[in-house]
Amino acid sequence: MVDENFDVAIIGAGPAGFSAGIYAGRSGVNSVVFDEGIGGGLAATAPIIDNYPALPGISGVELMEKMKEHADKYCKLHLSEPVSKIKKLDSGGFEVISEKETYKASAIILATGSGHRHLNVPGEGRLAGAGVSYCATCDGFFFKGKDVIVVGGGNTAFSEALFLKELGCSSVKVLHRRDELRAEEAYIENAKKAGVEILLNTVVLEVLGEQMVSGVKVKNVSTNEESVLDCGGVFIAVGVQPNNELAKMLGCSLDDAGFVQVDERMCTGVKSVFAVGDLVGGVRQVVVACSEGATAALKSLEALGRNYPY
Ligand code: NAP
Repeated sequence: MVDENFDVAIIGAGPAGFSAGIYAGRSGVNSVVFDEGIGGGLAATAPIIDNYPALPGISGVELMEKMKEHADKYCKLHLSEPVSKIKKLDSGGFEVISEKETYKASAIILATGSGHRHLNVPGEGRLAGAGVSYCATCDGFFFKGKDVIVVGGGNTAFSEALFLKELGCSSVKVLHRRDELRAEEAYIENAKKAGVEILLNTVVLEVLGEQMVSGVKVKNVSTNEESVLDCGGVFIAVGVQPNNELAKMLGCSLDDAGFVQVDERMCTGVKSVFAVGDLVGGVRQVVVACSEGATAALKSLEALGRNYPY
């Protein structure tokens, strides 16, 4: 049963999706943003976002709450309503099928973001939620006073390491697989100043522990030496993988890493389907995701038979 017709259905309520909703709504387009959860995407899990212009040092949760409130003024928000299927209709437009209803939409903006990449080592899955975490903001509190390890060499690893140290973890070590870090210098310096230790050329072979994490077995890849580092928690911050199931269903082209390929207007090449934010890869910054959401929303006007004047 078709519950409601929309001009634009935006799937995913992270920075890109909220921004698309704001721009679509302000252009007089009847739009809806769906999300499987409460919205905010991975950005909501960032302890601190220090490079979103005009709001230095804001927490991910606070920034995303502000975006949600803003989007709520201009478009419908269907949160906690996962979209499981999108079908192209022969008559034009799309059927958007959620767990609750089936809707019609003339254009689709995919903003389904990305999920945490896993290390895929023994012990990781078994001890997930029992000392293995992918989100310091969500779980850090439980590790106060404990020794913890953060795996990864990017911005997320270093912002999480700093957060955990400031939260009161007794020691925080960042383990990175190469001899050169990927994170921006400012993140590294702040973490070092706070007392975070960095172990380079170190790979995790196994997460150890019976009921709870008790340590990690590691290997130094320059000496081939293996050792055990005792710890009460392991935070895995080794990057992200795109949530591209709906994009695949619609026939969008993907690159080798699974990110959706788009042109400069955020068009996927599938008529009236746009993709934005982490789903398309690139520099993956909140400010960029917002810009992509705005671009897709304005370009979707053309798919609705309206001209965007620029
Ligand atoms: P990332 O930049 O892709 O870094 C992932 C890190 O994990 C890399 O250092 C990588 O090592 C390492 N890694 C990947 N697979 C691994 C494996 N199997 N075993 C061990 N190590 C592995 O991911 P991210 O730090 O999550 O950041 C994602 C995006 O969000 C980036 O574009 C980042 O700039 C952005 N971000 C921005 C901010 C900010 O500016 N406020 C904060 C957080 C994240 P290699 O270096 O060897 O590849």
